[in-house]
Amino acid sequence: MNLYNEEHQLFRQSVKDFLKKEAMPYIDDWEKAGEIPRTIWKKFGDMGFLGVNIPEKYGGSGLDFGYQSILVEETSKCYSGGFSAAIIGHISLAMVYLERFGSEYIKERYLPKSCSGEWFGCLGVTEPFAGSDVAGIKTTAVADGDDYILNGSKTFITNGVLSDFLIIAAKTNPEMKSAGISLFVLDRSMPGISAHKLDKLGWHASDTAEISIQDVRVPAKNIIGEAGMGFYYIMQNFALERLILAIGAITACETAIAYTLKYMSERKAFGRPINKFQVLRHRMAQLASETTMLKSFNSTISVAFNQSKNVVKECAMAKLLCTELSDKVMTECLQCFGGYGYMEDYRMARMFRDSRLGTIGGGTSEIMRELISKMVIDDVSY
Ligand SMILES: Cc1cc2nc3c(=O)[nH]c(=O)nc-3n(C[C@H](O)[C@H](O)[C@H](O)COP(=O)(O)OP(=O)(O)OC[C@H]3O[C@@H](n4cnc5c(N)ncnc54)[C@H](O)[C@@H]3O)c2cc1C
Repeated sequence: MNLYNEEHQLFRQSVKDFLKKEAMPYIDDWEKAGEIPRTIWKKFGDMGFLGVNIPEKYGGSGLDFGYQSILVEETSKCYSGGFSAAIIGHISLAMVYLERFGSEYIKERYLPKSCSGEWFGCLGVTEPFAGSDVAGIKTTAVADGDDYILNGSKTFITNGVLSDFLIIAAKTNPEMKSAGISLFVLDRSMPGISAHKLDKLGWHASDTAEISIQDVRVPAKNIIGEAGMGFYYIMQNFALERLILAIGAITACETAIAYTLKYMSERKAFGRPINKFQVLRHRMAQLASETTMLKSFNSTISVAFNQSKNVVKECAMAKLLCTELSDKVMTECLQCFGGYGYMEDYRMARMFRDSRLGTIGGGTSEIMRELISKMVIDDVSY
């Protein structure tokens, strides 16, 4: 069974046309600016791209996972991991929690504006002293009448400076580990929230923030789902997040391979195009083979995910292998460019930098191996 039918392919074409006109000409400027402009959100919203998976009653189109996957693939072809991360972060990290677990009040307040591109969001789980160990977060939410008072800090948060709302994981019961965590949606305008942009190796077009939360008064109705269930919700969404990272990584591999093959056909050394040197041909053949194999694995689990099957293990496996392959592809493709691979004039340097995040974000490779070990060796199921 295929994830994509004819309608998906029409949608893909409209995304491609849109990105060619509205994103590709400006990507280099956004990379330099360290953010994407607010106007692009509205354009995405007007095209109906932001709400593909959101029910129509909240301003979306209620479509299947294939549409989200197409958005991941097409934005990943734009030679800017940061641009893709900003857009997909809003759709698959922020909006998804509101839609899956939010109350009617939350859905009505946040989703229509999120679909139209008037607002965009971020997900704040990671803290300066708790990344892989999500249950170890220290941000607290203490009940005070009809409100909660939140205190703590978050770091490495995608869209963390510019977003209009923030989904924040905080402990409503600090005595407990995972069972003490709840998710809240905060408006940027709530007093006590401040954020600053972090300087980073890649993903330059995405704003990544350290966020301080000081005595922020949040109405109890802004709890997403049930108090104490935050950890469970985060774990539930990890399958989607990891699948998306795997799909993005494989698309980046394909993009880099095509870009490199073109260069190899044009660049000459010792009087012939470098694509005639067997050592380079074999390298590219190897990379293309591994990429094709993993793309096929991603397609299989995407179909299963779309059918609401449990693919927690497979998503962790895909995330692990695809992001590690991406690092290898970028390193070896860059090598084929010689010195030009190291120059900013070519897109290889940026693709190389951007790829490096894959094995870290959404759970590191070490955590993926740990998780997979538990599932394949100890028979644990999630
Ligand atoms: C650009 C960027 C964007 C991000 N966006 C977001 C976002 O939007 N929202 C969000 O909440 N977070 C975000 N993150 C955070 C990301 O998810 C974390 O960086 C990641 O989970 C790792 O946590 P850490 O950085 O604290 O590393 P640590 O947890 O401190 O890990 C350090 C090293 O120790 C290893 N390690 C840790 N525990 C174990 C173990 N049990 N066994 C073996 N090895 C272990 C890790 O694999 C790693 O190699 C982002 C990060 C970056 C860099």
